[in-house]
Amino acid sequence: MSDCLFCKIAAGEIPCNKVYEDEDFLAFHDIHPKAPTHVLVIPKFHLETLADATEQDTALLGLMLDRVRHIADAELHLDAGYRVVINVREGGGQEVFHIHVHILGGKKLPF
Ligand code: 5GP
Ligand code: ZN
Repeated sequence: MSDCLFCKIAAGEIPCNKVYEDEDFLAFHDIHPKAPTHVLVIPKFHLETLADATEQDTALLGLMLDRVRHIADAELHLDAGYRVVINVREGGGQEVFHIHVHILGGKKLPF
C-alpha cells in the first residue's frame, strides 16, 4: 500500500533500526519504546489488522508467531520472558494500520 508507513519501512523507503529480516518479515525497534526492549515484527505483505485476516492468511499468521519466537530468543535474548501484543483497530489502541506484533521485554512487566 503506497501510503502505509510500515510498507514504506518494509520497502526500505523509510529507515528503521532493524533487528531481523527475511523474505516475508521485518523486525525493528519501536521509535517510542514502552519497555527496555520494544521491537515490532511486521509482514512485508500489507494486511491492515488481525480483524481483517481470513483463512488465506492462516499460514502468514502462524509464520509470524514463529518468527516472533525466534527473534525474542535468538536475536533479543529475552530468556527471562517477554510479552507479545497485537493491537486491533482503534478500540484496541492500533495506530498504524499494517498488522504488527509488539515484543516487549527487558524488565518485569506490570499487568
Ligand atoms: P500500534 O499502536 O499501531 O499497535 O503500534 C504502532 C507502533 O509503531 C507504536 O508503538 C509507535 O511508537 C511505533 N511507530 C510509529 N511510527 C514509527 C516509525 O516511524 N518508526 C518506528 N520504528 N516505530 C514507529
Ligand atoms: Zn502496509
